[in-house]
Amino acid sequence: MEGKFMSEILKVLSGIRATGRLHFGNFLGAVQNFVKYQKDGNICLYFIADWHTLTTLENPEELRTNLTEIVKDYLAAGLDPDKSIIYAQSSIPEISELCLYLSMLQPLGELQTIPTYKELVRKFPNRVTLGLLTYPVLMAADILGPKATLVPVGEDQVPNVELARDLAKRFNNRYGKTFPIPEMMQDMVRIPGLDGEKMGKSDADNSIDINASIEEIRRRYLTKGVTDKNRVRASDPGDPYNGCKSVYPIHELVTVEETENRQIAKACQAAAIGCAECKNILVDNIARILEPFQERRRELAEKNEYVREVLREGGKKAHRIISITVSEVREKMGITIY
Ligand code: AMP
Repeated sequence: MEGKFMSEILKVLSGIRATGRLHFGNFLGAVQNFVKYQKDGNICLYFIADWHTLTTLENPEELRTNLTEIVKDYLAAGLDPDKSIIYAQSSIPEISELCLYLSMLQPLGELQTIPTYKELVRKFPNRVTLGLLTYPVLMAADILGPKATLVPVGEDQVPNVELARDLAKRFNNRYGKTFPIPEMMQDMVRIPGLDGEKMGKSDADNSIDINASIEEIRRRYLTKGVTDKNRVRASDPGDPYNGCKSVYPIHELVTVEETENRQIAKACQAAAIGCAECKNILVDNIARILEPFQERRRELAEKNEYVREVLREGGKKAHRIISITVSEVREKMGITIY
């Protein structure tokens, strides 16, 4: 496999911005996979992208709080600081130095065509900063700093990881083999929010907070979850695959029987099940996943000093790994620190 030319051990890296509370899209699209790869033989680095957060969040107190709260989510979801390196991006200044070196290899025009950039320009035309434009180069530095071989992310991040892959290839071509080419997972997902658009932290109306009570999640699905608009009466056959926007796509990920015999899809197509019943089954299955998480999360709620310790230790470990790469990059590019 192309990305593993340096070793057979997976070096897994991923991060989440501290822009708000984690939602179910982050949980299924990212965090659950972080836990999946945390096993013997793999080296896992999971960080909170506080620098990336600065592209859209201005409130320093909120940034600090979100950061530690997300670490609690990581821990409650099953990340173990003895097995995974958990750190804040800003704890490793060498990442921003690497970003500068990589920016010398990055054509400007390509950055302006990245879909996430274009979307933010459309949504916030008054907030188009240099930091926003160079976001993918910083993300490439996050990935290439520890020489990651696998980057588990949601589908929305594919263009950014592609850019990191291209930068790795460009660097290797110009300066000699340095970076493995990071791979993506085969089964990336895009979790829809209640309105059927991508679930996002910035859209409180469409997202499901993973720390919300199950009753609240049920209420939100029942009142706001968009299903097949063409299904007017319960006796009308539904179209789970193309018509249902916010409910069926999640059944496919959380309702175990659905992957095997498509019972709910068939019942929906035959009008044997109504949308409310379908939503209730969905929330029962979401509860099966979130309840144990929420229990562990409650135990961590007040453990701020422990979280800071996890970040300090993780920061030291990540620094050791990333600073070696950055020394190598300096050396290859002709930079000597006098
Ligand atoms: P962000 O919240 O944008 O920092 O994203 C953190 C991680 O969660 C990234 O790997 C994203 O791809 C993933 N993610 C965010 N929203 C979704 C979603 N709606 N579906 C799947 N993955 C998502």
